Amino acid sequence: MPDCIFCKIVAGQIPAAKLAETERVVSFMDIAPVNHGHALVIPKRHVESMLELTEEELHDCIVTAQRVAKAVTKATGSVGLNLLQNNHRCAGQVVPHAHFHVIPRSPEDGFRFGWRQGAYARGEMEALHKKIMGLM
Ligand code: AMP
Ligand code: ZN
Repeated sequence: MPDCIFCKIVAGQIPAAKLAETERVVSFMDIAPVNHGHALVIPKRHVESMLELTEEELHDCIVTAQRVAKAVTKATGSVGLNLLQNNHRCAGQVVPHAHFHVIPRSPEDGFRFGWRQGAYARGEMEALHKKIMGLM
């Protein structure tokens, strides 16, 4: 995929501090970390969203994310961890090549999500539940 920064990392055209690699995925350090040790896991094949990943790619992504997370957690002495995955610009995705963020967390790191929680009107959740179930 031309002009995709992550495809260039996969192809070895630009440098990255690689942490792990399988037949289908590669992991490397994020250059602008939320916290030190922040790492990424990406499929080697260019797809924009995790919805396009095959089960095999998804398997390698999640297994590699756990492997990297264990090492990052030990290396940084972190207490917690976020595994984040943004799809589409409206969801915070900047690089349009699917990726998982492995972010080590500490109680006083000052990073907050600004989580917003809403509510359903009566019957709304049940109707949506039925609709989703009909599509699975
Ligand atoms: P997102 O906002 O979910 O698309 O995240 C993209 C991430 O890629 C950001 O955290 C960037 O810091 C990171 N990033 C962008 N370019 C590079 C690069 N060349 N090497 C490592 N990480 C990168
Ligand atoms: Zn790409």
